[in-house]
Amino acid sequence: MTDTLITDTLAAIPMPALVVAAGERILDGNKAAEKLLESENLAGMHLLTVLRQPSVLDAIEACRASQAARTTRYLTTVGRQDMTYRVHCGFVRNEDRSGVLVTFEDITHLETAEQMRRDFVANVSHELRTPLTALLGFIETLQGPARDDPVARDRFLGIMANEAGRMNRLVRDLLSLSQVEAQERIRPGESVNMTDMVDSVIRNLSPLAEASNVTIKQDVPAEPVKLAADADQIRQVLMNLTENAIKYGGVDGTVTLSLSVMDKDPALRAPGVRVSVRDQGPGIDPIHLPRLTERFYRVDSHRSREMGGTGLGLAIVKHIINRHRGRLKVESELGQGSVFTVILPM
Ligand code: ADP
Repeated sequence: MTDTLITDTLAAIPMPALVVAAGERILDGNKAAEKLLESENLAGMHLLTVLRQPSVLDAIEACRASQAARTTRYLTTVGRQDMTYRVHCGFVRNEDRSGVLVTFEDITHLETAEQMRRDFVANVSHELRTPLTALLGFIETLQGPARDDPVARDRFLGIMANEAGRMNRLVRDLLSLSQVEAQERIRPGESVNMTDMVDSVIRNLSPLAEASNVTIKQDVPAEPVKLAADADQIRQVLMNLTENAIKYGGVDGTVTLSLSVMDKDPALRAPGVRVSVRDQGPGIDPIHLPRLTERFYRVDSHRSREMGGTGLGLAIVKHIINRHRGRLKVESELGQGSVFTVILPM
């Protein structure tokens, strides 16, 4: 290959690529490689001046010695983001010259997805293990020391029912999450009357509200507001948000559900419906807001568990709203309560 052909070939490779000749001298590198290795002109440079990761140097050397392909990883930081590249070294030869073609494939997104999967499995196992350990402990006690103690038995059975209930809610929310994820690419098509929906959610949750002496108010237009949506899923969104407002808003508080229609919603730049759920609770510190819809993210884990929370409610909400191509807006300040607003296109 002539050197211009090498330069043109490297330029045509859609990822950082360079050719290392004998003596660890870089024959040439494309623009993407220069950017990755922060060098203005790679041609003619010694490899060690731009690349110091031993695994990559070893792979290049091994590729040259064996004349066979090698792969390894290159870890770096771009800006403030950690990046992972899969480095592929291929032996290239042209008459009396030979070299190693090194390409860098960005696999950061794969690594991130894999890490998320590992975290999710670890979280689920942890969440299930806690109630399960409690159940096993009480079963053992009931089989042994508390066998003939009816008072203890009743108390332990009560706790066991609670723990089993927690596992049940967790499994229900996990199934719900996976169902919502599976449907995420299917456009919802039912016609849903949102005014009726708000009304039915409030009716459904009134026993829960009464138990905490919470008043639920609604502020909805008199005429029906219809949109194309998945009725069950929208009900779940409003149920989860209102349930949270009752749970976290505190005893004796007021929860307000408001519905409004906009010809041109600023968030959607299109006609939209807004449903907001407002509570007068302790509010949420702004540092938590960006992570609130992550699976199992809780501001106060103890309080969430005490309230029977699974930490999945808002993750489900986010997925459903994504499916509807809507937005979720959370406004909150410590001591000022919270407002969760669902914005749906009409
Ligand atoms: P959980 O099952 O724990 O309620 P969610 O996903 O519904 O899980 O909510 C995640 C976290 O967000 C909760 O643990 C809680 O800390 C916080 N949160 C949600 N809604 C409110 C609210 N209305 N007021 C204060 N904190 C809230």
